[in-house]
Amino acid sequence: MDKGRRNFLKLAAAGAAAATFGIKPTLDVLAGGHDEIGAGSKNRWAMVIDLGKWNDNSTRVFEACHRIHNVPDLGNRKEEVKWIWTAEFEKAFPDQHHEFTYEGLKGRQVPVLCNHCDSPPCVRACPTQATFKRELDGIVMMDFHRCIGCRFCVAACPYGSRSFNFRDPRPFIKKVNKEFPTRTKGVVEKCNFCAERLAVGKQPACVEACTNNELIFGDLKDPNSEVRRILREKHTIRRKPSLGTKPCVFYVL
Ligand code: SF4
Repeated sequence: MDKGRRNFLKLAAAGAAAATFGIKPTLDVLAGGHDEIGAGSKNRWAMVIDLGKWNDNSTRVFEACHRIHNVPDLGNRKEEVKWIWTAEFEKAFPDQHHEFTYEGLKGRQVPVLCNHCDSPPCVRACPTQATFKRELDGIVMMDFHRCIGCRFCVAACPYGSRSFNFRDPRPFIKKVNKEFPTRTKGVVEKCNFCAERLAVGKQPACVEACTNNELIFGDLKDPNSEVRRILREKHTIRRKPSLGTKPCVFYVL
């Protein structure tokens, strides 16, 4: 098969995949097919992760999240359930590295979580509205009771941000937090930006567990918020921006 035909078929396949999961292809984004983040909502929660301050051993941050949200530890990668974890820089940012990438980033483990995308393909893929974006503040939520375990959202998320409970997670929770629901076998889960804590005026647990302001949380709609200040003053990147999902997690390199 000649190269031109092969490239054409690749593009067609990518377009079909994008259409299946509602991901806007790159050309659409380049053509200006993206609106302002949080258009029409009062608040728009976002996170900035400062990799210059991030200590690769910051496991306390993950532990704080997983403890509060009853995330089970199944002890094997295949069935792993995770809300916030680390990934190699090259895997987290496949379009941001090259053979001369800064040595300090090569192979570096960087924190990743649900990006609470402003245009979330997972929401479009869900047949039961078990996952939805809140109009009020843009958080992409899960209604565990509505989830039928079809995993369309898992396939639709281009960031691997969703976990599926292949078995009953309850026996694998070290100490159950009665303030937050546990899940059952066959249910998908992910980071919820600590919506339950925001509701009572608290910061997300991961942000609260930071000792060096590595994670900063705030309202993109508030020009005086700390996240807006950082976005104004520092260069930030997002994961896979060409997909048009408009992640609301930003990284300072
Ligand atoms: Fe959905 Fe994945 Fe975006 Fe989170 S990161 S909102 S799970 S598409």
